[in-house]
Amino acid sequence: MVRMLPRDPVGFLRSEYEQLVSNELDWKLRILQGPSSPRCIVDGKKVIMLCSNNYLGLSNHPKLKKAAIQAVKTHGAGSGSVRPIAGNMDLHMTLERKLAEFKEAEASLVYQTGFAANSGLIPQLADAGDLIVSDELNHGSIIDGVRLSKAERAVYKHCDAEDLARVIQKAEERSPAYQRILVITDGVFSMDGDIAPLDEIARIAHDHGAMVYVDDAHGEGVLGKGGRGIVSHFMLKRDQVQVEMGTFSKAFGVVGGHVSGSRDLINFAYNKSRTWLLSGSHPPAVVAACIAAIEVLETEPEHVKNLWSNTDYFRKGIQNLGFDTGASQTPIIPVMIGDSGVAKKFSARLFEQGIFALPIVFPMVAKDRARIRTIMNAALTKYDLDEALLAFEKIGKELGLI
Ligand SMILES: *Cc1c(COP(=O)(O)O)cnc(C)c1O
Repeated sequence: MVRMLPRDPVGFLRSEYEQLVSNELDWKLRILQGPSSPRCIVDGKKVIMLCSNNYLGLSNHPKLKKAAIQAVKTHGAGSGSVRPIAGNMDLHMTLERKLAEFKEAEASLVYQTGFAANSGLIPQLADAGDLIVSDELNHGSIIDGVRLSKAERAVYKHCDAEDLARVIQKAEERSPAYQRILVITDGVFSMDGDIAPLDEIARIAHDHGAMVYVDDAHGEGVLGKGGRGIVSHFMLKRDQVQVEMGTFSKAFGVVGGHVSGSRDLINFAYNKSRTWLLSGSHPPAVVAACIAAIEVLETEPEHVKNLWSNTDYFRKGIQNLGFDTGASQTPIIPVMIGDSGVAKKFSARLFEQGIFALPIVFPMVAKDRARIRTIMNAALTKYDLDEALLAFEKIGKELGLI
């Protein structure tokens, strides 16, 4: 008789990881030694940072650091609870009031992260008998939020308002009719740096009585008046885009998600969002730094201006070298390479030359659309950008791409 060995209940942990490694799909973590700044030290090497979301350089801004230190002195290291019980500090209320003023909205609500905002709010806005209509390239946190909802879902072609209209029209033929329709899109798409046609999306949604939810993680601090984001960029009104979601982890330089809109929306979210209700609130240092970030945006307009002048300079420079920058309209500038292996090699060679920019390869983008994704930063100097352009030229020629 053959004695069966007991099955190893955790054997999949290693085998699945090893499979990722053999397909070169595992993340190799680099170590940032010191602050995220234009010239920083990564894995012991001095590099020019071209892949951080710290668009305005605020993560290391003296006013944010000072505010964080001060808040630790006055309010301690942690908040002690979730917001609805005992963790709602005066600082949290100040941040939400300041953010609502900045966004020119009736009210705002701050979540622990942008991911928590999407996964906590989306499933509450659409339930059984409702429909969520989503851009095919929306961010993973939107996709997870949609998965938590009992609503039905439909996808429209990337940034294609006509296709959105087609999807909604088809949905309206359903009987019984959907009670609510929620249209969701990223504001700026992080792989290509293109901007959603939010004005057309809002018009189509309005024609069909649908809600609009925009995730502006990459648009705020970047687009619109003084970096107020995509709703400001298109000069839309609050009743056209009912839910404006964003994050403090990118241009604002700290961490935290947020939602702005009507007082009704915020009252609803305060009472329904499970991520907000059931997870501890931000520590004082984080909240104070976020408040300071908004103040910096309001009083130091040069950061947004520098970001755009760097963006125009670098994009033109890359294009003049003969590279394709795809659909980029924002500080996210993909340098199209094509083959995944070549993109990885390109990134490794850049790093040797002191330029830190990561390859984006399959399965994140289509197999023949691998790229080096560069992200501009307000604090980079023209000297930094010229050095980066020289490296792109050298390696592009070396690999026969230009
Ligand atoms: C980064 C990002 C998020 C997540 O935000 P965090 O605050 O970092 O959790 C959500 N949506 C989009 C489009 C993002 O790019």
